[in-house]
Amino acid sequence: MLNKSQTAAILVIILAAAAGALFVMKRTPSADFAYFQGNTMGTTWSVRLAGPVPDSAALAVIQNDIELLLQNINREMSIYDPESIISEVNRLEADVAMNVPETLYGVMRFSLDLANLTGGAFDPTVGPLVNLWGFGPDGAVRASPGTDQIEAARSRVGFEKLKLPESNVVLKTRADVYVDLGAVAKGFGVDAVAEMLVARGITSCLVEIGGEVRALGMRKPGRKWRIGVQRPNYRAPSGSGLQGVLHLADMAAATSGDYQNFYVTDSGQTLSHIIDPRTAAPAGHSTAGVTVLAPDCMTADGWATALYVLGPEAGLPLVEAQPGLEALFVIRENDQSFREMASSGFAALADYEPAGLETGK
Ligand code: ADP
Ligand code: MG
Repeated sequence: MLNKSQTAAILVIILAAAAGALFVMKRTPSADFAYFQGNTMGTTWSVRLAGPVPDSAALAVIQNDIELLLQNINREMSIYDPESIISEVNRLEADVAMNVPETLYGVMRFSLDLANLTGGAFDPTVGPLVNLWGFGPDGAVRASPGTDQIEAARSRVGFEKLKLPESNVVLKTRADVYVDLGAVAKGFGVDAVAEMLVARGITSCLVEIGGEVRALGMRKPGRKWRIGVQRPNYRAPSGSGLQGVLHLADMAAATSGDYQNFYVTDSGQTLSHIIDPRTAAPAGHSTAGVTVLAPDCMTADGWATALYVLGPEAGLPLVEAQPGLEALFVIRENDQSFREMASSGFAALADYEPAGLETGK
């Protein structure tokens, strides 16, 4: 543990990720656009509809149904709600099977598959460490945790301690295993909203939660949806700088980074809210942000977190091996300068325009 003066020397800067690192360009809904927004999952959601927009009564129904859908997802997956199903899972005794809804099961299945694919860089049981480092429901800590606390939390972490023995059944091998789906929940929510809109006959829309996005169709004929990638700058985390622009149609994108939710210690060390389960400490390296493209947003969201942990050297070969997945790493050379490293198909898949070259397509 740190003593009092060391504790005081830690400058705590926690910036809530109110707006994501991806943002929708030119938010000026015209007569042929409908725009809704609201709050969910500790951040904001927004939906834009393009093309033939339903009448106002139908729009009100859609907005209400989006709210209800997101509330239902939170009732299953929010670790901030003690009544949620995930909270019930987290109170479950060891080796006791529990039935869970198909949706929650699906998100857990995806998370365990991703944990396997990434050698545990992504781990849905990492919650005790997230919390210990001050980024979970218990809120900020003012001191780095001690070795004994880290070891105690670490013994509870490990995706092999979470089992899915059959469809819609979950089991923990230790009672104190704690499941946190925060790294994929926003992406899952985006997909759920997008699928609901498709089921209602909507063909062109952009769905966004906390900066994770999914584009369906085009914003107008021949014009894809334009999404800005924020420059991952600690000094201007709420978005003064633009790294580049993505053009998306029938595609999802998500970003993970260390510049919207972090601590800076007195020695200048930055502690990110993404934990490397292999070291039991905040992931720390030169990657400032990772933007991932995938057909669906849960995949993009989960991989963004995993790739942030892995960094480009370990991460890019995995991306190249996954069909339909592309990634852009923004590497921090120093506070003022950034370098990009992308998978081979990234630029083409998103018509990526680095900032400065933007033509206003
Ligand atoms: P954000 O958009 O807030 O950056 P992310 O998708 O990057 O969200 O997920 C961050 C959240 O994921 C953390 O707050 C924590 O709950 C969880 N998390 C942190 N590290 C990991 C990890 N290695 N694997 C899985 N989940 C993680
Ligand atoms: Mg994520």
